[in-house]
Amino acid sequence: MKLTRSLSKVSTRYDLSRDELAALLDGEPHFRVDQVWHGLYSELAEPAALTSLPKTLRERLADIDELQPSLHPVVESSTDNDDTTKWLFELHDGRRIETVLMHYEDRSTVCISSQAGCAMGCGFCATGQAGFDRQLTTGEIVEQYVRAQQRAGDRRVSNVVFMGMGEPLANFDRVWRAIEKLHHEIGLGARNITVSTVGVVPGIRKLTEARLPVNLAVSLHAANDTLRSSLVPLNDRYPLDVLIDACRDYMDVKGRRVSFEWALIDNVNDRESDADELAAIAAPLGAHVNVIPLNPTPGYLVMGSPRKSVNRFVKNLSDRGVNTTVRDTRGVDIDAACGQLAARVPPKSPVVLQARPHEKAD
Ligand code: SAH
Ligand code: SF4
Repeated sequence: MKLTRSLSKVSTRYDLSRDELAALLDGEPHFRVDQVWHGLYSELAEPAALTSLPKTLRERLADIDELQPSLHPVVESSTDNDDTTKWLFELHDGRRIETVLMHYEDRSTVCISSQAGCAMGCGFCATGQAGFDRQLTTGEIVEQYVRAQQRAGDRRVSNVVFMGMGEPLANFDRVWRAIEKLHHEIGLGARNITVSTVGVVPGIRKLTEARLPVNLAVSLHAANDTLRSSLVPLNDRYPLDVLIDACRDYMDVKGRRVSFEWALIDNVNDRESDADELAAIAAPLGAHVNVIPLNPTPGYLVMGSPRKSVNRFVKNLSDRGVNTTVRDTRGVDIDAACGQLAARVPPKSPVVLQARPHEKAD
C-alpha cells in the first residue's frame, strides 16, 4: 500500500509547516515528526537518508511526494578554484531558476532567485528579457539555500542575497516566509539577508514594518527619472521621489543603511553628471553604493563601463562624500549574472559548462 498523502496545494519539503509534516506522517509519534523536522532544518539532510530513523519510516518518507527534492540541477558549473558555483535548476513544472554560491575570505554568500523569470522588463537584464514565468514557493526559495550549504560543506553559508532571478518584493509573502524560515528554523541572522529590489515601493513599506532587520538594496542605476525610466520601466509607476521617500522612511524606522545598486553602462550612466545626481541622493541619506560594470546580455547590445570609467565614477562619488564598493565580476565566466545561464541553455539539454577562472574588477 502506498502511504503517500497529498496536500491540496502544491507544496515542497520546505513549504510544509510542522503541522502539515505531522499530517503527512499520520500515525507516527510526535518525536519522529520532530526528528524529520530537525533533519530538514538543522542537518539540512535528505529525510529518507536520516540514519536516526527506522528503515520502515525512511521508506515511507521516500514515498511521499511533498518530501522529494523540488530543485533538479540541469547545470552545475564551478570556477576552477571552486570559489563560485552556479546552478540552473529545473522545477517540477519545467520552469528554470538560477542560484549562485560565492566563497570569499571572510564569508560565503548564496545569491537566490525569488521568481522564475521576472515581469519588470528591465532591458539590460537577461531575466527581464525572457519575461515572467511564475512565483517561486517559499520552499523553492529555502531549498536553494539548502543546496548551496550542502555544496559548501564545512564552510557556513552565512549570507543570503535575493539577487538572482526575479523581483523579490513582487512575491512578498512567499519571500518573507522564506526569510522567516531561514532565520527562525535554519538560524541565519536576519542582518545577513539582503533583499534587492528594483523599487517596488509598497514592498519597501512592508519591509519597513516587518520585524526582522533584513538589509535593503535598491537597484537605482539612474538618478534622474528620464534615464531611469528608460532603464527600469517600473520607474514610471514609482518615480524617484516616491522611491527615495520610501528608502528614507525605511532608514528612519529601521535605523539601517540602504544600499544602492548601480550597473555601470558605458556612456549611459557612468558620466560625471550621473555621479553628481547620484551623490545628491545618496550623500544626504548616508547610503552606500555598489557599482558593478554591466554584464553584456544577448538582448541589450551595450557594454559595461571599461575599468577606467569605473574608477573615474567611483572617484567622483567618493569626492562627493559617497561610500562606494565595486562588486567583483564574480562568475561572469560561468554566466553568473541574473538570468544569463538560463538564456544560454535551451530546455531539455543537460549540460555541464566548463568554466574559466574568474577575473576580478578592482
Ligand atoms: N529584481 C531585483 C533583484 C534581482 S536582479 C533587482 O532588480 O534588484 C539583481 C541585480 O542584478 C540588480 O541590481 C540588477 O540590476 C542586476 N543586474 C541585472 N542584469 C544585470 C546585468 N546584465 N549586468 C549587471 N547587473 C545586472
Ligand atoms: Fe527583474 Fe531585477 Fe532583472 Fe529588472 S533587474 S528585470 S527587476 S530581475
